[in-house]
Amino acid sequence: MQDISLILLAAGSSTRFGLSAKKQWLYQGQKPLWLSVADNFSEKFSFFKIIIVSAKDEIEYMKQFANYTYVTGGNSRQASLKKALAEVDTTFVLVNDIARCCIDSDMIDRVIAQKENASCIVPTLKAVDTLYLDEQPIDRDKVRIIQTPQLSHSDTLRKALSSKDEFTDESSAIRALGERVIFVEGSTKAHKLTTIDDMKKLPCLKEPSSETLIGFGIDIHPFEDGKIMKLCGVTIDSTFGFKAHSDGDVAIHALIDALLGAAGMGDIGELFPDTDSAYAGADSAILLSETMKRIHSYGFVVGNVDMTILAQTPRLLTYKNDMKKSIANLLSLPINRVNIKATTAEKLGFVGRKEGVTVHAVASLKYFNWMENR
Ligand code: MG
Repeated sequence: MQDISLILLAAGSSTRFGLSAKKQWLYQGQKPLWLSVADNFSEKFSFFKIIIVSAKDEIEYMKQFANYTYVTGGNSRQASLKKALAEVDTTFVLVNDIARCCIDSDMIDRVIAQKENASCIVPTLKAVDTLYLDEQPIDRDKVRIIQTPQLSHSDTLRKALSSKDEFTDESSAIRALGERVIFVEGSTKAHKLTTIDDMKKLPCLKEPSSETLIGFGIDIHPFEDGKIMKLCGVTIDSTFGFKAHSDGDVAIHALIDALLGAAGMGDIGELFPDTDSAYAGADSAILLSETMKRIHSYGFVVGNVDMTILAQTPRLLTYKNDMKKSIANLLSLPINRVNIKATTAEKLGFVGRKEGVTVHAVASLKYFNWMENR
């Protein structure tokens, strides 16, 4: 076991990426990108600890994938790195951006081999293009392109980052302290994934698994006089609606649970707690849109959905087409991928006594195939 911890920075919002999925959640086989990077490092090197920095709402979900140390990111790369350093108890720390997803083991060996010789070891590339500065050509042999991962002395890096100045990497922070930084030969394989076009340049990326994930959801709401009845986002002509904290769209609630179930994301109550006043009278169509935003950003697409509405009253036959269109629209799916069935309960139980409605839903998800989009 080496006296080195690894920090993987994955807290970026991927705003430059132009896909509905965040880049750290693009699947490689059955693993999201962040996990395949962490596992690759873990298989090739023996780190004391691997620390993954991510957005707050992603961490609980990430914990289900692997037993690494997870830290909530800050507002900038530097702020995230400072928070991660608080978890480091080794002499040295290697810091890698998750966007540097293809690992060149030989390059990392070159970096680690120099660890006793400076406060920061940096892989660099020589510039191969002609370079201008302020409209004047400059000597490209004097230019170095900085890469990650960089290896730093942990205490020196902590001190360097306590400065008020913002640095774009560890080496510039450590050099600002007047400490020694040395360069080793980098690797063109360690290209950074910033835009979708970069994915063509990264031969280590592999296509997502084509497996299908299934989820199931069920919801029940009692009737309440004088409320507007909504099912699947469609207003139903009725003198009563549903008793609920939100608008009571029992069909959308069951569907949200099916979608969350397929993604392994818990249930509707965890995402939109009914103790939260923000969701009082909430339009369930908006809750479904928010659910879809989350499902897409975590690297999934919906395959199909199927729902059964059990209602003795009202009669729903004439609404089924509008319901299908409404759900297809909210999920950005072709109408043939949405099936809605309605049945009575043959006058049995609470549904049969016309006390309320229950809905069962199933949904299938697939991993977003980024290969088709690159
Ligand atoms: Mg409900």
